Amino acid sequence: MPEGDTIFRTARALGRALVGKPITVFRSTYPLLTRFDEETPLAGQTVASVESRGKWLLMHFSGGGTLATHMLMSGSWHIYRPGERWQKPRSQMRILIENSEYAAVGFHVPVARMHTAQSLARDPRIPRPAIDVLSAEFDAGAAALRVLAHDNEEIADVLLHQEVMAGVGNVFKSEVCFVTGLNPFRQVSSLTREQVDGAIAAAQELVAANVLEDSGDAIVTYGGRKRRTTHEADPTASLWVYGRHGEPCRRCGELIRRRIQGPDARVTFWCPRCQPMPDGSDVDG
Ligand SMILES: [Zn+2]
Repeated sequence: MPEGDTIFRTARALGRALVGKPITVFRSTYPLLTRFDEETPLAGQTVASVESRGKWLLMHFSGGGTLATHMLMSGSWHIYRPGERWQKPRSQMRILIENSEYAAVGFHVPVARMHTAQSLARDPRIPRPAIDVLSAEFDAGAAALRVLAHDNEEIADVLLHQEVMAGVGNVFKSEVCFVTGLNPFRQVSSLTREQVDGAIAAAQELVAANVLEDSGDAIVTYGGRKRRTTHEADPTASLWVYGRHGEPCRRCGELIRRRIQGPDARVTFWCPRCQPMPDGSDVDG
């Protein structure tokens, strides 16, 4: 599943291709979208802005409508020049938006709906900017209180709750716990407010570092902001623990462990020496 940084970069690329330019073509295979387009034609309108909210991508049109899409596991947006050959079959196209310079194609986008400002504000699935770690309006103090409210859950699971904090996916979850020295299986009730604040600050910092202009497609948490090619042979080469099961910890040399965690059975990686349980107990890897 794309993490928040991926959606942010997609929104930025779509914004550059679409914002301010009159739409010449709108097409979709979704009846709800085409019905909206029949009643309020999008051709002739412009794209006012494109933003990410956690894992949602919002495209705001000059006529007041907003297209909200979620990629889940399978969807992607591509940007093409007119006449350029698409890299996926036409049968996978769900949404097409063209202007005189670009065509934006949503392939296999599994969730798409058109919103008014009112219905957007009421949709409980789409995070408000204040809970999106990448938003300038993100409220870290309020996020800490939401984390602490899940006191009987394990910290790594709570970091994944998109209604607690949007934009942190499964890779960042393990990386945030590592850089803050927190064992991912610790109950939130065992953490101090300071530790929770530290985890939130680390989440903001790591996700934000991956949406810089020179960020490639692979997530980087280790090795600073070095420029990388998009053809990195090993995607885990730039991570502290994720995907490094059985390899030595980059800080202490202990072997990194891996375990399935939580009700959604997501994989978690950690270093038992750098991220000990507070009572010294061991977590099986
Ligand atoms: Zn270590």
